Amino acid sequence: MLFSQQSFLVAGLSRSGVAAAEYLLSKGAKVTVFDDVQDGNVAVAAAALKERGCNVAGKEDLSRRAEECDVLVLSPGIPVDHPLPVMFRRAGKRVIGESELGALALRCPVVAVTGTNGKTTTVTMLEAIFNAAGKRALACGNVGRPITSCLGELGEDGIAVAEISSFQLETLYSLRPHVAVILNVTEDHLNRHYNMENYIYLKSRILKNSAESEYAVLNYDDETVRGFAEKSKAQTVWFSLKERVDGAYLADGYFCFRDERLFHESEFPLEGGHNRANALAAIAAAKLMGAGTAAICAALKTFRGVKHRLQRAGELNGVTFIDDSKATNVDSAVKAVNSVKGESVLLLGGKDKGYAYEPLFRALKNSGVVHAVLYGENAFQLLNAALKEGYTSVTLCRPFDMAVRVAYLTARKGQNVLLSPASASFDAFSSFEERGERFCAMLDALRAESIGEKPKAAGFATGDEGENADE
Ligand code: ADP
Repeated sequence: MLFSQQSFLVAGLSRSGVAAAEYLLSKGAKVTVFDDVQDGNVAVAAAALKERGCNVAGKEDLSRRAEECDVLVLSPGIPVDHPLPVMFRRAGKRVIGESELGALALRCPVVAVTGTNGKTTTVTMLEAIFNAAGKRALACGNVGRPITSCLGELGEDGIAVAEISSFQLETLYSLRPHVAVILNVTEDHLNRHYNMENYIYLKSRILKNSAESEYAVLNYDDETVRGFAEKSKAQTVWFSLKERVDGAYLADGYFCFRDERLFHESEFPLEGGHNRANALAAIAAAKLMGAGTAAICAALKTFRGVKHRLQRAGELNGVTFIDDSKATNVDSAVKAVNSVKGESVLLLGGKDKGYAYEPLFRALKNSGVVHAVLYGENAFQLLNAALKEGYTSVTLCRPFDMAVRVAYLTARKGQNVLLSPASASFDAFSSFEERGERFCAMLDALRAESIGEKPKAAGFATGDEGENADE
């Protein structure tokens, strides 16, 4: 791409939009930025870019500015059928994402990870393994570090461990990973992708440039993912919790790769079969990239998980609080419910993403969940699904803070309060991180109350949907 001869409109000034604009400016391109959200962060980012020679478009002159631009760089938070990308396409112009700019510029080997759930956990595991092996690896992409901002550090001999979401796959064309990992595909983001066929197609696109010399690490236990093997030229290497596949698997309690035993399950610190599956995917990808057994074992045996993913937040009067705020769809919440030991009061709710909640309540019937507190914008949708499934041990309670309080008061000594909401956070928070922090703040407030101090947490957090949001 001849940057200096083209003009780019960067739409959406989230982290990746800012990185894209900075990257393009550094290449001598003419850059205009636009964001229809006008909060403090956007204003600060726009002002800094303006100082570096960037144009800043407002709503009033967006059409004129857009007409002058050759390429649209679209934030992953903006759907591809939004009027702006539609206008570019109608004019025969390209619409790409920041990750496409990154893919075009990367000079080092890439391990790319996609799937509905487990991407961040798996790329974080892989980064730890490669670093333990003495390689310069960076987890980048959807994990929160834009690919274009890692190019210098990665150089030619680093390893880019790129987390790639379905939102990014909509505008990503050139990525050709040495190893592409697909973890699972379950219902998610149907409000954006409309139906499962489209969502599955987008996930499969991570393999579309792969050649025979490259690898696809695929989940044998997931029927949809298993099907991707037939459509890809890459060599398939499987991972499975159930079968001794050609790849990574569990056998006699050991994590294995091909015929080699690596370490015993009891040495793996994370709860849940899903995290074992993530570890198997990471083992397969790491082995294919040449990582040694010692590095893999050292990294995975000491892996402590990622914040807001099934993390113990603390304990109050014998009740354990577990923060799984990143469980923003049904499957991740089901996995949490099946992984957490003992009995739990479950906090469910937030912003709906267009899927059915009935499978969740079916799963609750045979689990350690003794009661569900339903809160947030989709509380009544959840209630409907619960009642359809005959699950009646529920309390309806709209505001989040109140819901946490009710869950705590409902839980008995020895039980958990589990925040695994099966919904996005944008009804009341700017992100799942903010929701998780609020949960922890509520624990602190309840603790202060229980020892007679004045509680610190008050009022409700609010927020707009983040531009780069992929929950
Ligand atoms: P992603 O980056 O794909 O959103 P994360 O690693 O951030 O995945 O985890 C998101 C949520 O999904 C968390 O609640 C986590 O406990 C759960 N999770 C992690 N791995 C899996 C998996 N393999 N299958 C289902 N749920 C998972």
